[in-house]
Amino acid sequence: MNFDYDLFVIGAGSGGVRAGRIAAKHGAKVAVAEEYRVGGTCVIRGCVPKKLLVYASRFAEEFEDAVGFGWTSQKVAFDWSKLIENKNKEIDRLNQAYIRNLESSGAQLILERASLIDQHTVQLASGAKVTAKYILIATGAAPFVPRHLPGHELAITSNEAFELERLPRRIVIVGGGYIAVEFAGIFNGLGVETVLVYRGEQILRGFDDDLRRHLAEEMKKKGIEILTKSDVEKIERSGDGVRVTLTDGSKIGAGQIMFATGRVPNSLDLGLQEAGVQVTPHGAVQVNEYSQSTVENIYAVGDVTNRVNLTPVAIREGHAFADTVFGNKPRAVDHSLVPSAVFSQPELGTVGLTEEQGRKMHKAIDIYKTSFRPMKHTLSGRDERVLMKLVVNGETDKVLGCHVAGEGAGEMAQLLGIAVTCGATKAQFDATLAVHPTASEELVTMREKVK
Ligand code: NDP
Repeated sequence: MNFDYDLFVIGAGSGGVRAGRIAAKHGAKVAVAEEYRVGGTCVIRGCVPKKLLVYASRFAEEFEDAVGFGWTSQKVAFDWSKLIENKNKEIDRLNQAYIRNLESSGAQLILERASLIDQHTVQLASGAKVTAKYILIATGAAPFVPRHLPGHELAITSNEAFELERLPRRIVIVGGGYIAVEFAGIFNGLGVETVLVYRGEQILRGFDDDLRRHLAEEMKKKGIEILTKSDVEKIERSGDGVRVTLTDGSKIGAGQIMFATGRVPNSLDLGLQEAGVQVTPHGAVQVNEYSQSTVENIYAVGDVTNRVNLTPVAIREGHAFADTVFGNKPRAVDHSLVPSAVFSQPELGTVGLTEEQGRKMHKAIDIYKTSFRPMKHTLSGRDERVLMKLVVNGETDKVLGCHVAGEGAGEMAQLLGIAVTCGATKAQFDATLAVHPTASEELVTMREKVK
C-alpha cells in the first residue's frame, strides 16, 4: 500500500518533536501536527517558564541574605508584568527554535489539529485527509480539574498561572504534588500569601518521607501555610476574588485559587477508538515497552501514556521509538531509574529508591543521613537546613537511592543519577574525594549509619 507519509506524529511536544526529527534523520517521510504551539507543555507552559518564575521568586531571599554579607538593604520593587513579558519573549524564541529544528530535520510541520479516522488515516481540522504507515500519538496531558466541586470554574490551573494579569494578594493552591509545591514557592517568593491545601497526610506522596517532612517544615518557615488532611468543598465568588470553603467548614478568602491536582492524558476526540487503540480507564494510551499500542502501526510516547510523566522520559521514548521503527535499532526505555528534581524552595533532587521502597524490595537496607546548616546561612542568618540521605543495600553495598533537599539539589540529582545508574557502591562514594567547601561533599563523607 502507498501512504502519504511513513510517519505521522500527532503532537509537537518534547516526545513528538524528538521522534519526528530522528525518524526523518533515519530517512522517513514525516509529518508532525500541532494544534497549539510547537514545544509542548514543557516549553510553552511547563518546565521552562516555571523555572524562570522560580528564579524570579528566589531574589526576594537573596536580597535579604545579602545584608549578612555587608550589603546595604535597598528598597527593591518587583514588576510581574515585566517578568511575564520577558518570559514570553524567551518562550517565543524557544518555540521558533523548535520549529526550525523540526523543519531542518526534513519533517513537515502541520499547524492544525489531527485525529484518526482509522489505523492509517488522519483527519486534519482543515478537512484534508492523509495516510501514514506509522502513527505516533504524542499529545501530552492537561491539568485535571475536579469538576464536581461547586465553583470549580472560578479556579485557575498552572496554564493560567503563567499568564495572570496581576498577582493576587493571597492564593489558595490545591494539591500536594510537584506543581503545587513548585507554585507555592513561586507565589510565596513573589510576595503572595500562599495557602496550600492538601488532602493527604504529607505533601509529595511517593517521595522519601524524610524529604517530604523536611520540605514541608522549610516551606512553613518561609511563610507558606500548609493545610494537610484538608480539601476544598466549594468555591464562591467574593468581590474581586474567591471564598473557598474547606471540608472542615473553615473558609479562606483569596484573590485566586489554583488547582494542581494532577494531569490527565490528552486522548479524547483523537479517534483512538475508531482506530482500535485501547486506553486505560484513566485515558492513557496502553503501550508495551517499545511504546507500541494495541494496534501494530500506532505508537504513543510521553504523558499521553501516563508512564513516568517527565520531559526527558518523553524525549527518550520518542527517540527509542524512532530508532526501533525507522533505525533498525530496537530499543526499549528503562523507566526504573529516573532522576528528578522538584523546583520547590528549597529544591529537591532525587534518584532511585526511597527508604520505604528499599525496605520493601531488599532484605537489608542501610540509611545514611545528614542535616546541616549550609555555609551561606552562617552569615545570612537564615534558618534553613539541607538534608541528604542515601539508601544503601546492606548486603551488596550498592547505593539504591539518593535524596537531597537544599540549594542545587536538582543539579546534584543529575550527577548522582550517573553514579546510581552505574551501580556505584557506598564504598565507591566514600572513595570519591570531596570538593570543598560545598554542600554536596557531604554525599561522600557520610560514615555513620542511622541506627
Ligand atoms: P501530581 O500527580 O504530582 O500531584 C497531584 C496532587 O493533587 C496530589 O497531591 C494529589 O493527591 C492531588 N489530587 C489529585 N486529585 C485530587 C482531587 N480530586 N482533590 C484534591 N487533590 C487531588 O500532579 P501535578 O499536577 O503536581 O504534576 C503533574 C505531573 O507533572 C507530575 O506527576 C510530574 O510528572 C510532572 N511535573 C514534573 C515537574 C518536575 O519534574 N519538576 C514539575 C511539574 C510537573 P494524592 O497525593 O492524595 O493523590
